[in-house]
Amino acid sequence: MMIFFINRSVIFYILFYAAGIIFDNKGDIGYNNKICFNAIRRKPMDMAKTYNPSDFEKKIYEEWEKEGYFKAKISADKIPFTIVIPPPNITGQLHMGHALDETLQDTLIRFKRMQGYSALWLPGTDHASIATEVKIVEQMAKEGLTKNDVGRDGFLERAWKWKEKYGGRIIEQLKLLGSSCDWSRLAFTMDERCSKAVKEVFVNLYEKGLIYKGDRIINWCPDCKTALSDAEVEYEEEDGHLWYIKYPIKDSDEYLTVATSRPETMFGDTAVAVNPKDERYSGLKGKTLILPIVNKEIPIVFDEYVELEFGTGAVKITPAHDPNDFEVGLRHKLPVVKVINDDGTMNSFAGKYEGQDAVLCRENVVKELKEKGLLLKIEKLHHNVGHCYRCHHTVEPIVSKQWFVKMKPLAKPAIEAVRKKSVKFIPDRFSKIYFNWMSNVKDWCISRQLWWGHRIPAYYCDDCGETIVSKTDVTVCPKCGGTHIRQDEDVLDTWFSSALWPFSTLGFPEETEDLKYFYPTDVLVTGYDIIFFWVARMIFSGLEHMKRIPFKDVLIHGLVRDSQGRKMSKSLGNGIDPTEVIAKYGADTLRFSLVNGVAAGSDMRFSDEKIEGARNFMNKVWNASRFVLLNAEGKTIKNVKDCKLSVADKWIVTKLNKTVRDVTLNMEKYEMGIALSNLYDFVWNDFCDWYIEFTKPVLYGDDENKITDTVSVLIFVLDTIIKLLHPFAPFITEQINKNMPNRSGSIMVAEYPRYDIKHNYSVAVAEVETLKEIIKSVRNVKAKTGAAPSKKVNLFITAEKAQRIKACALYIKKLAGVSEIFFISDKSELKEKVVSQVISGAELYIPLGELVDLKKEEERLNKELENVENEIARASGKLANKGFLEKAPKNLVDAEREKYDKFIDMRNKLVKQIKDLKG
Ligand SMILES: [Zn+2]
Ligand SMILES: [Zn+2]
Repeated sequence: MMIFFINRSVIFYILFYAAGIIFDNKGDIGYNNKICFNAIRRKPMDMAKTYNPSDFEKKIYEEWEKEGYFKAKISADKIPFTIVIPPPNITGQLHMGHALDETLQDTLIRFKRMQGYSALWLPGTDHASIATEVKIVEQMAKEGLTKNDVGRDGFLERAWKWKEKYGGRIIEQLKLLGSSCDWSRLAFTMDERCSKAVKEVFVNLYEKGLIYKGDRIINWCPDCKTALSDAEVEYEEEDGHLWYIKYPIKDSDEYLTVATSRPETMFGDTAVAVNPKDERYSGLKGKTLILPIVNKEIPIVFDEYVELEFGTGAVKITPAHDPNDFEVGLRHKLPVVKVINDDGTMNSFAGKYEGQDAVLCRENVVKELKEKGLLLKIEKLHHNVGHCYRCHHTVEPIVSKQWFVKMKPLAKPAIEAVRKKSVKFIPDRFSKIYFNWMSNVKDWCISRQLWWGHRIPAYYCDDCGETIVSKTDVTVCPKCGGTHIRQDEDVLDTWFSSALWPFSTLGFPEETEDLKYFYPTDVLVTGYDIIFFWVARMIFSGLEHMKRIPFKDVLIHGLVRDSQGRKMSKSLGNGIDPTEVIAKYGADTLRFSLVNGVAAGSDMRFSDEKIEGARNFMNKVWNASRFVLLNAEGKTIKNVKDCKLSVADKWIVTKLNKTVRDVTLNMEKYEMGIALSNLYDFVWNDFCDWYIEFTKPVLYGDDENKITDTVSVLIFVLDTIIKLLHPFAPFITEQINKNMPNRSGSIMVAEYPRYDIKHNYSVAVAEVETLKEIIKSVRNVKAKTGAAPSKKVNLFITAEKAQRIKACALYIKKLAGVSEIFFISDKSELKEKVVSQVISGAELYIPLGELVDLKKEEERLNKELENVENEIARASGKLANKGFLEKAPKNLVDAEREKYDKFIDMRNKLVKQIKDLKG
């Protein structure tokens, strides 16, 4: 039906709709014959007339759990396939980001389980040090209490209670989603096992000299009052100022101009640095400056770090409050003077400004400098300012005594592992981000001034000053025998325990059977936002402590955004609550709408339309399944290889086989979005739109053998569909599976379909494609000529391969409303006026008298001629375009030529038809 290419789908739709043979767009299968519903039923089918997931989702989940299908068994004759869940925070509630993350993991684990792997999806939660502590502090504030009021033990008691009460919330929500996690292995980053691993690793690293305590510049959040690692600081562009301040040179009238964006830190200046190559300052060697306001003498130091172009080329050095200055200070042995307190106020070094907030102090310092004539000028500055990822307060670089992990030696093998592709990022572009981060990584500050978390296993002896790092509690000093022992007050960065997750959850440091069998894991599924926080740290931790990579593949997904592409957030009020979607539409619909169109590494847009599309598909599957199951009731179901297959059967079996292959290959490549769309196309277009319609003339006929064979094929196709669909939509497929006549246990543990080389009937496929064209053409002719779709007409066909069409005559008659089909060798055999249709390999004629009105028909043919002329013009334009001919791939050019020839052929036929009509 090449002629109607422009608006074919629209016409097709109207026509089908009018004929009552198409479903509406809510996914209902439309039956042109409702007898099937009245068929005698031997056994009541447990599938309501309308799809209502709340009838069965919870029940099915309970059954799965009870039967132990989620539990992964160590089995010598099975290959393990392991995923560890990115542990959600105990403070968390399921949001769309989790829903996507978990759906992708569940889809993979179900797929692998059906393929026969011993598939373990290990679940757990993270104690989320800062996030949880903030919650507890807020809760106490409501009672008028502070941390100090209740003390460390009292606080921890509250935190554990909170964890018991709310920590399981997200687990329950994961269950609603259908997650097939092995709950018998549920872990928590602060449970006994994980805590043991944390101590083991801390002590090991300490003993290897890879953990040390030292004075370093760290990122300090004055609001959370804790150190932050580099990964926990978010940089944002902000408008600021550059103040040019005169630093007088001692014993002279001259001065050196220093540019700074933070004048309030000048109380902590212990030098001014210039670049040794800077000729402007070559005469300053040995000179001393007077620090304004403070009136203290400070040296001029020469250091390569100073950029010649920045400001005046002279920079003040404040080692206690700037990471680069700290390094300069170390090189030149400068004193470190800390002037800002942990709460963000100025200390006694700021003199009369002591106690003032640093921001206010800055204003006052600038005012005083101006009054003293020491402020030369102010420039606008656009610069990056760090903020706390938790509370968003401006981060203060502060020198402080903290615990650090020495990163360089750990990063090296971790970079190598990704470079050698032992660990693969999907998509690969994220490995660049990883390399960039890991090659420039600084030592990791792991101590946090919090109470909720793993307390650092370091002890101090007050009698002799010894530091003892130990896996077990220390009460007596091993050096002096003293008993005045204190444990370090700080806890570890929350990510310290998450970094051990792939092996701590499997039993490390014990060499458990689980660890031996399930480690390394196979794939980590996570968002790109935690590559540094988590993925990188798991890689070096696995390599260091297990001597093996923690996972082979890292599947990175993007964020779930709203329909306009904005981040979902509380403040915008644009978030969609996945639990609400589940309550309203069911988990399968939510899962389908998340995976549909998902592409690794890319953000996705989520909208109500997506949910609607998914729900329509579920309805479609439900209704098609009911049709098949109702027709199968009381019938013998044969093995397809024992059936006499009709051309339509062969066609659908071939299409199905190809779908099995495509879906499987795409799943193996983590292209879940494409796999789902392969399946969607098959179910919606091939199976529901066409095959089910093809079966009706047989099912409503009286040839019992044919009916048995057709029902057997329907059951075979449906059975394969639900197996392919199960990883994506576990509940609906299980519910259908329960009603299958050939059911053998849960679909969760059914064997995944395999591609079968025997199921390729290429001749049948060609025949059915022609058949579809003929049916669509006849329907179109009726629509265009205004004839009712049900109006019976005679159809005359000239075709090269008439025999093939003859085999399909029954379908044409039933599906296109044709009374008789006549094969003719030439149009001249027809005495009456006819409407013609040109399709590939055949011409169709319908007596005009059976349809209508000559004039209209002439107009219609002229319109088609016009369309074809346009196509010819387009194609010849393209073929005359040198650029196209030279640059386009050969197959494209050939295809264009072929199209051109086809259009010319069509034009000739149309011209002739118009002439005939007039004649
Ligand atoms: Zn903060
Ligand atoms: Zn001691």
